[in-house]
Amino acid sequence: MSRYTGPVCRLCRRETAASKTGEKIKLFLKGDRCLSRKCAVERRGTAPGQKTQGKQRQKTSEYGRQLREKQKMRRYYGVHETQFANYFREAARVPGQTGRTFLQMLERRLDNVVYRLNLAASRSQARQLVTHRHFRVNGKLVNVPSFIVKPGDVLSIGERSLKSPVFAANLEVAGSRRPPEWLEWNDTEKTGKVVQLPSREQIDTPVDEQLIVEFYSR
Ligand code: SF4
Repeated sequence: MSRYTGPVCRLCRRETAASKTGEKIKLFLKGDRCLSRKCAVERRGTAPGQKTQGKQRQKTSEYGRQLREKQKMRRYYGVHETQFANYFREAARVPGQTGRTFLQMLERRLDNVVYRLNLAASRSQARQLVTHRHFRVNGKLVNVPSFIVKPGDVLSIGERSLKSPVFAANLEVAGSRRPPEWLEWNDTEKTGKVVQLPSREQIDTPVDEQLIVEFYSR
């Protein structure tokens, strides 16, 4: 399945330019650079592409707002269109609030959990670390970034990986930052645990999931 491999900062600039409130929307796709002055949203918040620069922003339709919100969330988690729609279909089958369940499913992806545990600087780095076979879930090797974790699951790092210089810096960060409350990091054993399903309040993804529900319900 193909993934977007172009310049990711363009995606952030697109969302910022589409924001009605002028809010600087960051998708945090480039690790530490996102927090630095080099961030493209900080340097110029215009939409990518010369043609759109300097033009007056056009009024966005309801459909346009829903579409933008869907794109924003998809890019935030780095999920392909088809897989994203599949997640939604699966979430819609679960009783309860579809938007919340949908968001929970994306949060529970293994690559996102690695990122949330501060073991990777970005979700794309987390995805790479997972595919490079660095992680175990409940003692079993898992190299599928879309693997969905559940409460009680324990994430550990392979013995050889623990000694690798790739992990040294990331482990230091993991030990110094707190993960969200639905996850727990054991710095002595270098393991992460899924304590509970994430509540909406524990997910800081800046999206209005209701707009995405409306987009798929059209
Ligand atoms: Fe977005 Fe990060 Fe690029 Fe800034 S540096 S534009 S937050 S991906």
